[in-house]
Amino acid sequence: MNKIPVSGPWITQKEIDYVADAAANAWYENANMYHERFEKAFAEYLDVKYAVTLPSCTSAIHLSLLALGVGIGDEVIVSDVTWIASAAPIIYVGATPVFADMDKRTWCMTAESFEACITPRTKAVIPVDLYGGMPDWNRILEIAGRHNIAVIEDAAEALGSEYKGKKAGAFGDTGTFSFHGSKTMTTGEGGMLVTDKKALFDRVLFLRDHGRKPGDIMFCNDEVGYKYKMSSMQAALGLAQIERADKLVDRKRKIFDWYEKELGGLNGITLNYEPEGIKNSYWMVSAILDPKFGIKKGALFHKMNAQGISCRPFFSPLSAIPAFNEAKEARKAREKNINSYKISPYGLNLPCGMNMDEKKVRYVCKVLRESCKKN
Ligand SMILES: *Cc1c(COP(=O)(O)O)cnc(C)c1O
Repeated sequence: MNKIPVSGPWITQKEIDYVADAAANAWYENANMYHERFEKAFAEYLDVKYAVTLPSCTSAIHLSLLALGVGIGDEVIVSDVTWIASAAPIIYVGATPVFADMDKRTWCMTAESFEACITPRTKAVIPVDLYGGMPDWNRILEIAGRHNIAVIEDAAEALGSEYKGKKAGAFGDTGTFSFHGSKTMTTGEGGMLVTDKKALFDRVLFLRDHGRKPGDIMFCNDEVGYKYKMSSMQAALGLAQIERADKLVDRKRKIFDWYEKELGGLNGITLNYEPEGIKNSYWMVSAILDPKFGIKKGALFHKMNAQGISCRPFFSPLSAIPAFNEAKEARKAREKNINSYKISPYGLNLPCGMNMDEKKVRYVCKVLRESCKKN
């Protein structure tokens, strides 16, 4: 039996046709046609004004910080438990990351922890919609507004999630998305920055094209910027995927339903949370095991692997990984981020690629249940 992969996309003939068309025709006067269509469709899907295609979500967060004027001497509050890409751009711009704790059920930054991290040097906050879950956006935005802190929403894992009827990615000054092959929709590698603010949009366009003013035909750069662009073939793939976004999200939710049916009623296994007023797009089905089972994510990961099942460990707190070992703020976070340190060691992401079916889910759950027993 082939190994069950942890994640992967859903590609149909529509994607293949669009990419082939881009390869054949998106040149000369049509060089940007797929970018324009993809950005327009994406902005409409989110109900925001502007969307900019980029090579990754990492670059989207980087450009967000630059466009917001975050730099040396500034502090940026970020979720402690997330992928390193949420925080690495804070280092790129010379600012200091400050790690905030997560909520026990949503696994996203809590309003209390965010507020407790604020100092006079805080310039921005990066809440992450972890695994498709949503933080308490109303309270986070209220606190950010009161302290004049810019908000960058890392929605890389939450395409199609909603909070009180509004789509993930639409809450911050900017919202950022990833189209890496493991994400709910993909362009191979790619990302998007969205915003409602014209000034931010203009600054991002300028910075991602080597500091050229729009319409600069003399190759006369005003500033040293970046080269953060997506190719037409990727934009074509993205267009096909966003046109199918509802199907992709429905599929993720279906996969979660199968897991919920198998594991939901079990004592000691907690899955992703979807409280009243939230739609969770369940990028990664994640199981948190009660410590009573006596098995942590590393050992569980290897047991599942040995049975032909690829999993991923729940993200570790950034303040716990070697990359941030020396940071003063990481030391503080290790003491105060109680939920992050309590939950992360017992979490596992279960296979939830778009090619999962109910039979495979049942097998994964059977192995998971057995792995919990024998310790
Ligand atoms: C995947 C991911 C990113 C990074 O996306 P790239 O496109 O690989 O740069 C950022 N933040 C989170 C939370 C992610 O899961």
